[in-house]
Amino acid sequence: MEYVEDCYHITPCVIVKGMDEKRADISFWTERENGGLFLFAAAPNCEAQRIELEEFFSPIIDRTYFRCECGRRAFKLYLPPHKTLFKCRTCYKLRYILTTFNPNTEHGRARYQFIRMEKLSQQRMEISKPMYKGRYTTRFLRFLRLCGRAGLSDVVDDARKLMETIHAPVPTSTI
Ligand SMILES: [Zn+2]
Repeated sequence: MEYVEDCYHITPCVIVKGMDEKRADISFWTERENGGLFLFAAAPNCEAQRIELEEFFSPIIDRTYFRCECGRRAFKLYLPPHKTLFKCRTCYKLRYILTTFNPNTEHGRARYQFIRMEKLSQQRMEISKPMYKGRYTTRFLRFLRLCGRAGLSDVVDDARKLMETIHAPVPTSTI
């Protein structure tokens, strides 16, 4: 059983903006062929995977989707650990960890909470720079929001207090 949470994923945004979800060891590039747009993803020592993109332009929203090799249209494609191809969630039969517990039993709730905490501490370890120029980074703020949702109000309060301390007006000398 593989879980969504354990997989690296890409969205069509890797092409258009930010690239913050881009993994350093995988090269991405796009090519237009016969009017169609394709994303290429090349993991180390692997032949590049060619992924079709579908672009929808409407007066309201422009959106790009992937066309998985199974023919399904997907906004996310996943790369499970030890796999080399990006595919949709259905192809890899991925499940969400948090939906595999019965929240109505004490045991289910405890496991849910445990996995949530484990994920949070893992995320925290991956943040090398929680602060930049005296402000929390976007990544760290996202982490704090998740802590808040998981009921870890101490973490959130501490972070807020630290920020208040940093930005408190410096007391003027009374000499
Ligand atoms: Zn698929």
